[in-house]
Amino acid sequence: MRKSDRNARILILGAGPGGLSAAHYLRRYGYKNVTVFEKLGRVGGLCRSVTEDNQSFDLGAAVISPEYREILKMARRTGARLEKVIGAEAFSMANETGGEPYHRLLDYLAGGSSWGAYLRYLLLCLRYLWTRFLLREVFRRPGWAGIDLHPELCVTFAVWLKNNRLEELGRLFELPITTFGYGNLDEIPAPYALRYISPLSLVAFLLSATRFARFLPGVLLLRRFRYGFQRFWEKMAWDLNVRLNVEVKAIKRSDQGITVTYTHPVQIIGEQLTHTEDKTQFDYLIVACPQLKETLEKMMDLTKEEAWLQSRTEFIPYAVASFEIADMVLKERVAFHLPLPPLGEPMIISQPHPDNELMAFYARLPSIEPTEADERRLREHIERYVKAFGGRIKTDDDWHSYDAWLYFKHVSVEEFRAGYYNRWEKIQGDNRTFYVGGLFDFDYVEGIARYSRFLIEKHFVEGD
Ligand SMILES: Cc1cc2nc3c(=O)[nH]c(=O)nc-3n(C[C@H](O)[C@H](O)[C@H](O)COP(=O)(O)OP(=O)(O)OC[C@H]3O[C@@H](n4cnc5c(N)ncnc54)[C@H](O)[C@@H]3O)c2cc1C
Repeated sequence: MRKSDRNARILILGAGPGGLSAAHYLRRYGYKNVTVFEKLGRVGGLCRSVTEDNQSFDLGAAVISPEYREILKMARRTGARLEKVIGAEAFSMANETGGEPYHRLLDYLAGGSSWGAYLRYLLLCLRYLWTRFLLREVFRRPGWAGIDLHPELCVTFAVWLKNNRLEELGRLFELPITTFGYGNLDEIPAPYALRYISPLSLVAFLLSATRFARFLPGVLLLRRFRYGFQRFWEKMAWDLNVRLNVEVKAIKRSDQGITVTYTHPVQIIGEQLTHTEDKTQFDYLIVACPQLKETLEKMMDLTKEEAWLQSRTEFIPYAVASFEIADMVLKERVAFHLPLPPLGEPMIISQPHPDNELMAFYARLPSIEPTEADERRLREHIERYVKAFGGRIKTDDDWHSYDAWLYFKHVSVEEFRAGYYNRWEKIQGDNRTFYVGGLFDFDYVEGIARYSRFLIEKHFVEGD
C-alpha cells in the first residue's frame, strides 16, 4: 500500500476497544478518511456501563492496571477521570444454611493463616515476578509472531506454573484468569496468561486487594473510570467518524478496493427508519469485531487461509447479571467465590458502591452457545446465594441486566506451537484487509490497544 496516502478511505468494523483504538491511531497519524461501522446503538463493545442513582457501574470491562500505558495516555488526552479500586474478599457456599459465608482471601491463597504461610506465599509471588521479568523481551512486542520459537512457553499456564515450581500460585491466578472469564489454568495457553499477568498488574492486583490500599497512590493500584469504561470510549469516539446501528450485509474485496453493502438508520420527521441498502467504496478494511467464522462468512468471502485461521479459534461463554439487592452489603467491593464453583454459578459478586444496592454476578456458562436455560439456572443460583448472605432480590420484575457473551476469542497451545500466529502476521494486509482485537494479543483492553497501534504503525506509517 502507499503509506503516505493519508486520504485513503478506511473502514473499521466494530466500535469496541479494537476498532476505536485503531481509528484513534490512524487519526493521530494523519489519516482523514476513517469510518467506523458499529452494529449496536452504542460504542465500547464489551466495555458496557450503566448509571443507577447517579453512580456508574461497569457490567463488562471494569478495571485497568498501571501497566495500561496506552489506555492511560488516551485517558489523559480525553480528560477521563479514574478512581481507585480497593478491597477484595472471598466467600464460600459450603454452608448455605446460615452462618458466615466469608473467609479471608489471604488465608485461602496462602493455605493457612500463620505469618509463616503468608511469608512463604509472598516469596512465591516474588519468584513469579522475577521469572516473568526475565521473560520481558518475549512480551515486549505486541502480538505473537515468533512465539513458536519458545516451546517452553507454548504449554498451558498450569503446566508452565508446574514446570517453574509455582503451581501453588494457581489459587491466586485463578482470580484474574478463571473468574474473569479466561478459562481454567489448564486450558489457557501460558503466553496469554503471562502477558496479562505482568509484574505491574500483579503488584497492583495484590495491593488493591488489601485494606490499606486506600492510603496508597492510585498509580500503584487497579483503577476504574469514574463514569464507566464505556463512557471513556464514548469520549474517545467524539472526534472519530463512528456510525451506529449499521448492519453490514456484504463485503466484496478486489484489487480495486472494498465494496460494502449495508443498512443504516435515518430520521424522517421524528421517526427512525432503516435505510435500505447503501453501497460505499473503501480502500482498506480493518476487521475489529471478534466473531465466529460462520458469522464472518455470512458477511464476506473469506480466503481459504482466513477461513482456516478463523476456524481454529474458540470462545468462552461468560455472563454478567445484575440486580438490586436489599439487606446485603458486601464487606469489600468484590467477593470471589472460592474454591471455584461448578460452571454456571457465579464466581464473582461485585458491589462497586457500598451505598448502592446494585450488584453484579459473573459466571462462566455451561453451554458453548448461551441458552435461556443457562440464564434461568444462573438466576436460581443467584437467588440461593443472596439468601445465604441474608439478602433478597429487591424487585420481582425482570433482571436489572443480563448479558451473555461469547468471550475471549483464542486458540489452543497446539496452535501456538504450530506457528498459528505467524500465519496471521503473514496475511495482514492481503486483500486490503487487516485484523485487530483480542485474538491477536490477549483479550484485555491494553493488549488490544497496543496491538492496534503496532498494526497501524507497521502497515500505515513506518517507512513513509
Ligand atoms: C465481564 C467482562 C469483564 C471484563 N473486564 C475487563 C477488565 O476489567 N479489564 C480489561 O482490560 N478487559 C476486560 N474485559 C475484556 C475487554 O472487555 C475485551 O478485551 C474488549 O472489550 C475486546 O475488545 P474488542 O474491540 O476486540 O471486541 P468487543 O469489545 O467485543 O467489540 C467489538 C465491537 O464490534 C461490534 N460488532 C460485532 N459485529 C459487528 C459487525 N458485523 N459490524 C459492525 N460492528 C460489529 C460489536 O457490537 C462491538 O461493539 C472484560 C470482558 C468482560 C466480558
